Amino acid sequence: MKSWIQYEATTHFPIQNIPFGIYTTPSKSKRVGCAIGNYILDLATLVADKYLEFPRPEVLLQDTLNDFIALGKDTTSKFRLDIQHLLHIDNHKLQSNSNKVSYLDSMSEATMYMPVSVKDYTDFYSSIDHATNVGKMFRDPENALLPNWRHLPVGYHGRASSIVVSGTEVHRPKGQSMPKGATTPIFGPSQRLDFELEVAFIVGKPTNLGESVSVKNAYDHIFGLVLFNDLSARDIQAWEYVPLGPFLAKNFASVISPWVVTLEALAPFSVPQEPQSPEVLDYLKYEGNYNFDINLEVIISNAKLKQSIVQSNFKFMYWSMAQQLAHHTVNGCNLNVGDMMASGTISGPEPHQFGSMLELAWQGTKPLKMNDGTERTFLLDHDVCTLIGYAQADGFRIGFGECTTKILPAT
Ligand code: MN
Repeated sequence: MKSWIQYEATTHFPIQNIPFGIYTTPSKSKRVGCAIGNYILDLATLVADKYLEFPRPEVLLQDTLNDFIALGKDTTSKFRLDIQHLLHIDNHKLQSNSNKVSYLDSMSEATMYMPVSVKDYTDFYSSIDHATNVGKMFRDPENALLPNWRHLPVGYHGRASSIVVSGTEVHRPKGQSMPKGATTPIFGPSQRLDFELEVAFIVGKPTNLGESVSVKNAYDHIFGLVLFNDLSARDIQAWEYVPLGPFLAKNFASVISPWVVTLEALAPFSVPQEPQSPEVLDYLKYEGNYNFDINLEVIISNAKLKQSIVQSNFKFMYWSMAQQLAHHTVNGCNLNVGDMMASGTISGPEPHQFGSMLELAWQGTKPLKMNDGTERTFLLDHDVCTLIGYAQADGFRIGFGECTTKILPAT
């Protein structure tokens, strides 16, 4: 499939992708757009001028994608296919319009916003290599995984209000911690600020209280995916999380990529999971390929430095998104459009595939050597942390773009 719009083979946004997001330009108010090459397609104006048909045009001029997504996949999937058709090299309807640039906004002049209003946020813990690494560090190297881990996708309910879009700068959080060997806690800026490389899915179809979603039907309830950086203050976390789990160590900010990549765009990249052992309970059993082969990378940069420190892959997940959603709803917990559920840190078996500084520098004991001569055990002030993700096909990529944040000193 080729488009009449010019772009490089390495673009994250070829005609095969068509992800949705919310943007403005200096002359246009907030609206729904889709990414194509280095442009954003102004969908509301294309519908107003009859280049595209859409049953609820006012939805395309809203501040978030929630109402767009809530129309359901019958509507949004058809719209996405119509957009692909309009951009196809054999289609001259828009291509032959001498004023077609008025529908194509340059990405470099646009501002991106939170794509959805997040209703509820859940973070899972579904990478076996990550859970094993953390278990070895904090528990028992011989029994790194807790007894429940291979029987259910462990998760916790997080905070939706502090999920922010890529480009948002984040101040180093302050809080309580208990220094090694101390007997009373101290208060101050976190000394162990970390990223977590994750992918999150956005719920597109609600359920009623009491209803459950099966593994088989789970992907009907998922609209699309974003990259997710679950920023974590390890020193605050180590002191506060017993016995109830993550709290202020994680709720100060999480950062997502602005383009929501649809499940339809990612379907060609589905791959089998590693076989689960022991066998899981019936409601978690699956047939087919529910994981996705998506390359994931983390880059640390500042004025003097730009260095890739993680090369992982979404396919390393032990529990699939379908199993996560089936487990989340098996007790009757209801879903809302705009719910966000993150994977948990995605680590692979090799050290360069570890998805957090905690693991890369092994709790501060193996500092990372950086290209500018400095070392890192955790994030420093003024570091820019960028997550990148894309699935590679023969001749094109389905990408997420960037999920980036700069760490500012504590206030
Ligand atoms: Mn996490």
